[in-house]
Amino acid sequence: MPEACPARDFAIQVVRRLRDAGFETLFNGGCVRDLLLEREPGDYDVATSARPEQVRTLFGHRRTLAVGADFGVTVVCGPRGAGQVEVATFRTEGAYSDGRRPDSVEFSSPEQDARRRDFTINGMFFDPMNEEVIDYVGGERDLAARIVRAIGDPRQRMSEDKLRMLRAVRFAATLDFEIDTATANAVRDMADQIQAVSAERIAQELRRMLVHRHRGRAMQLARELGLLSVILPELIHAGHSDAIDHAFVEWDRTRRMLNELVDPRFELAAAILLHAVPGTAAVDRAAVIRTICRRLRLSNHETDDICGLVTRQDELVEAASLPLARLKRLLVDPLIREVLVLHRLKADAYGFDPAHVAFCENYLDMTPAEEIDPPPLISGDDLIGMGLQPGRRIGEILEAVRDAQLNGDIRTKNEAVQHVERLR
Ligand code: ATP
Ligand code: MG
Repeated sequence: MPEACPARDFAIQVVRRLRDAGFETLFNGGCVRDLLLEREPGDYDVATSARPEQVRTLFGHRRTLAVGADFGVTVVCGPRGAGQVEVATFRTEGAYSDGRRPDSVEFSSPEQDARRRDFTINGMFFDPMNEEVIDYVGGERDLAARIVRAIGDPRQRMSEDKLRMLRAVRFAATLDFEIDTATANAVRDMADQIQAVSAERIAQELRRMLVHRHRGRAMQLARELGLLSVILPELIHAGHSDAIDHAFVEWDRTRRMLNELVDPRFELAAAILLHAVPGTAAVDRAAVIRTICRRLRLSNHETDDICGLVTRQDELVEAASLPLARLKRLLVDPLIREVLVLHRLKADAYGFDPAHVAFCENYLDMTPAEEIDPPPLISGDDLIGMGLQPGRRIGEILEAVRDAQLNGDIRTKNEAVQHVERLR
């Protein structure tokens, strides 16, 4: 086991307390997988024979939350810094008639609980007191062989909850495992059914895959299995004269760019993934990308950033020859550093000259922020005080004064007032 860690210590305490009260209790799911891989688990999940009411009685209502009472899940809150532990009653799931969630759940044995889980590597239990793995599904073997394999019949398991198809890709990519052949075949055959899954759940998987350093492989796997063309049909370059070759070359560039990213925000990785969607002009492409973001129900903030990153770039190419005021206005963009990363990757992938990127980066590194974006010298109220009528003209004059300031032609309020007099 890894070094001491408050989250794990608290999870162990929770297990001990439930056991002392007479309930069979084990770690389960992702944390078992991660512990066996000697990775720090994101969170600790506990499975128990205790019913949700019994868990709440044992830990007290003030320290527990009934989050998924229907599914028998209770959250137990730990001391400061220890996070919280999800305690779930061993359960089986009834039929899945909608391809997303079970119609009913029933409390059951650990073995049945293991069998309802998605992949063998996620289906093991661990007894933290005796440091013993309890494995009903062959998870240990698959973990050693680095294989993502559905528990039971892959087709049936994927049709119960179609998100599992995308989860298979995520686990294979992030853990650097292969997907078992029968499991992969099931995904390939059923890929178009990913449409049944809510946009929010799909987007959440995409976020997790795209921020991971194996994002290139994740997208490649999703593409090979036919999931990507259903989630992002716009990425298929149809209508091109030699569409297949072109699509291949375009995809290869995208994948290389994804791989080159270092710790990107989701928005930047998504912008790279989408940068080559077809469109005749930047405006059209922005509209296509906005439509994609809306369909995936990304937040307004994510959508604006992704669209901004992909489309707000064309002028930068001439950075070195722009008037200073224009350059500074481009460089104050809060997204500028990410825009530059995207430009550099694009230059590498397409063989463009990246000189403008170096120029902008150098300018940003050498120039204090208050010189790129200094406080304005004069306000609209000042102009009204000088006798100007409120209206559009005021805005134009303010912009002109701002340009003069950014160009370094004026530096004080007095000079700004004189500049206004000249403009009137
Ligand atoms: P991560 O480290 O990404 O959180 P995880 O394995 O903890 O990985 P979760 O989504 O947190 O994944 O789910 C916890 C456990 O619940 C999984 O390990 C798996 O056993 C089970 N599980 C989660 N989602 C599904 C699903 N859609 N179908 C079947 N079992 C699932
Ligand atoms: Mg988890």
